[in-house]
Amino acid sequence: MPDSRGGKIVDEKKRNLKRMADLLKSGATMLSDSCPECSSPLFKIRGEIWCPTCNKQVLIVKEGESASNLIGQSMFDSVEKIVLSKLQQNIQQIKKEEAPSKLNELGVLVLMWLDVLEKIKELKSKRS
Ligand SMILES: [Zn+2]
Repeated sequence: MPDSRGGKIVDEKKRNLKRMADLLKSGATMLSDSCPECSSPLFKIRGEIWCPTCNKQVLIVKEGESASNLIGQSMFDSVEKIVLSKLQQNIQQIKKEEAPSKLNELGVLVLMWLDVLEKIKELKSKRS
């Protein structure tokens, strides 16, 4: 007989269990750490830590480990993509802009994005 009170929660739990099983099947290992948000057990897959319940990457910074070692390659790639699109956007704005104060502002932004890209490159090379 179905439990009418907790039906939804049971469904959710089943889905989470299935996700965990899928993770294990795809070569993930279960960690002793739990998710800081939902306290589900965390899984490590391809060097990244995932919470199957939140269905997202979790970053755990342990003492003596730097954050850059824990940020997955995919994280760097997505940050890089965002920065590149912002950079492009700012360059387009510079093309159209005439006011010196605005140009100065945009110039600062472009330099900042270039700096960030340089930093990402540096962090990426440290990982490998
Ligand atoms: Zn979680």
